[in-house]
Amino acid sequence: MPIRFILVAPSHPGNVGAAARAMKTMGVEELWLVAPAQYPHPEATALASSAADLLDRATVVDTLSEAVQGCTLVLGTSARLRTALYWPVMTPREAAPKLLEAAVDGPVAVVFGTERTGLTNADFERCNALIHIPANPAYESLNLSQAVQIVAYELRCAMALPRPEARRLVPLAPAEELDRLNAHMGQVLAAVAFTDRAGGGHLERRFARIFGRAELDCHEVNMLRGLLASVLVKARGGAES
Ligand code: SAH
Repeated sequence: MPIRFILVAPSHPGNVGAAARAMKTMGVEELWLVAPAQYPHPEATALASSAADLLDRATVVDTLSEAVQGCTLVLGTSARLRTALYWPVMTPREAAPKLLEAAVDGPVAVVFGTERTGLTNADFERCNALIHIPANPAYESLNLSQAVQIVAYELRCAMALPRPEARRLVPLAPAEELDRLNAHMGQVLAAVAFTDRAGGGHLERRFARIFGRAELDCHEVNMLRGLLASVLVKARGGAES
């Protein structure tokens, strides 16, 4: 099952070990660590128990962009619902079948934030949608490894459910394709001097959120890239290269 669990900047080695154990018990085996504070670490190994192999095999990278390379569906996790302003929010139970369905075509990812502050806005920009674990509104922030456990458990339960036969004709576009689309959109916005009169700014990021939510497939990304290329040519008054 090509499902990556990505821990962004985990600060406590014990949590990394406990997350590895939570994953392995549920059959989720791909652990990615983005800039962990300490790795490897004896405390992580101790808490991983018989999941130390998964810890040893973890892929360690510097940025979230590297960790989501190739992923067609990236779901962030958030303890706070206010981030839901811009992204569709699902429970782990709703997210699990979506992840399994998309995983048929290639890697997918669930992204977890650092213990004290969670995921940053820049991290959320990399996500197609969010998972929020319903919790006590007075205290919604679970321990990192326990959040990992709940999402992994729901994946386990969903694996036992009958899966729809139909597959996508065209696979969803991987994360790096969306990066290129967003960069291209940025060029077009600049070339046509399209500014945000309604205020708020960050137009490029707002388009990135729209594209992220849309779950674009590869053909759709190509179509949009083609349109943007044509707009650039017109805007620059040149011939198409
Ligand atoms: N104060 C931080 C809490 C971070 S807890 C915040 O408000 O975001 C560390 C990580 O555990 C989070 O980034 C998320 O990945 C996960 N987590 C904790 N509670 C969660 C919840 N209720 N729903 C989804 N993920 C949660």
